[in-house]
Amino acid sequence: MNPISSTATGRDGGFAALDLAEPLLRAIADLGYVQPTPVQAAAIPPALTRDAGGADLMVSSQTGSGKTAAYLLPVLDALSRQPVAEAPRDGARRGRAPARGRFEPAAPLALVLCPTRELAQQVAGDAIDLLRHTRGLRVATVVGGMPYPVQLQRLAGAAVVIATPGRLLDLHRGGHLRLDAVQHVVLDEADRMLDLGFAEDLAEIHRLTESRRQTLMFSATFAPRIQALAARIMRDPQRVALETAQDRHTHIEQRLYWCDSPSHKRRVLDHWLRDEAIEQAIVFASTQIECDELAQDLQQAGFAAVALHGALSQGLRNRRLQALRQGQVRILVATDVAARGIDVPTITHVFNYGLPMKAEDYVHRIGRTGRAGRRGLAVTMAEPRDRRRIGAIEAFSRQPIPALTIPGLEPQRLPEAPRHGRRPDGNRGWAGRSGAPRAQRAEFAAARRPAAR
Ligand code: AMP
Repeated sequence: MNPISSTATGRDGGFAALDLAEPLLRAIADLGYVQPTPVQAAAIPPALTRDAGGADLMVSSQTGSGKTAAYLLPVLDALSRQPVAEAPRDGARRGRAPARGRFEPAAPLALVLCPTRELAQQVAGDAIDLLRHTRGLRVATVVGGMPYPVQLQRLAGAAVVIATPGRLLDLHRGGHLRLDAVQHVVLDEADRMLDLGFAEDLAEIHRLTESRRQTLMFSATFAPRIQALAARIMRDPQRVALETAQDRHTHIEQRLYWCDSPSHKRRVLDHWLRDEAIEQAIVFASTQIECDELAQDLQQAGFAAVALHGALSQGLRNRRLQALRQGQVRILVATDVAARGIDVPTITHVFNYGLPMKAEDYVHRIGRTGRAGRRGLAVTMAEPRDRRRIGAIEAFSRQPIPALTIPGLEPQRLPEAPRHGRRPDGNRGWAGRSGAPRAQRAEFAAARRPAAR
């Protein structure tokens, strides 16, 4: 795999320097994008399919970095430049019932795979925005929870399909969709897809689209399992790595509050939710039950709060997300899966009320704030028994989370350093114990000492 430097491309020249199709450039201007973000500047030129380009790319980038346009633009550019006969301008015929009444399956040219319905719907929204001046390219989402007839109707003639893997394969097995015309496959949040058990579905989609020209894979990390997936389904991928875990989220302030008990945690949360600086917030819960109960409690306490989790119907989830986007909901209480990919720039605060199961989910959670160039605040509440999980999060993000206290809500006891946790430098042991360099020990010790808010 060949690493690509993020400075290899002309970010200074704006989008025009990227030589994208003119209708796409107009849509970009309508959206108010002036400069490509670093991930766009690094990923778009090698991904463009013209000339000898069109490389397979493996891109690590943080959420909120503009990664969606980084893969949509080269793919949409390729489709929009295809000769009419090949392009889906003839797509009006595809997926429609011909005169004989026999249904002809849809045959998309590009496939974007997402781990969750919410992300798929968001990506589809971005694709539709980017195609507003491009004629003849339609976008459809294929996600669970949507009635089949509606889905099939939307799928008819679509050139770009944004899908969750399970539902896509259902439709394929039902004969509603052909995948042999697919030229571009994008895997968004590939790490999450593996977490959610989609490895076999991805292998099957890989086989069904074997004649494709290009595969683009986006993932928060290049963990070994992601590299193994890339080795299986990509051809000599180039690697675009922009951020490391350490320099991620510098625009998001992170704070930790140690709490003695669940009721103490609740008081700290209540205190915070009364902060007038909050425009909108996501409060993360560990389970669907906790999510429902907390949302109810907050409603009773007079907050405009709703719950969002995977057990709710898709219609309800959509309505709640819409209410959040329109500002009718101020506090969204959510689980990890449901909140993945939410892109609402007015979310100023993220609260980790229930800790994430996995350290990398913490990074996804806090990335719901500080979007589109804004700053954000991520507040984590933890009990002494959570100290190892906090250690794992700090190790994963390779930075300590400063611990603070609120006057009147100080914890009675502070957790001891974990015996077997990993230090934020990735080594065994813990700051303050033997092994860490003196300066580093002092830094971590200072960060772990509570300071007043
Ligand atoms: P993403 O990482 O794709 O979820 O994008 C995060 C946010 O950045 C979205 O609200 C995008 O609309 C926005 N965005 C993407 N590219 C640009 C750009 N070049 N300039 C300004 N905003 C952008």
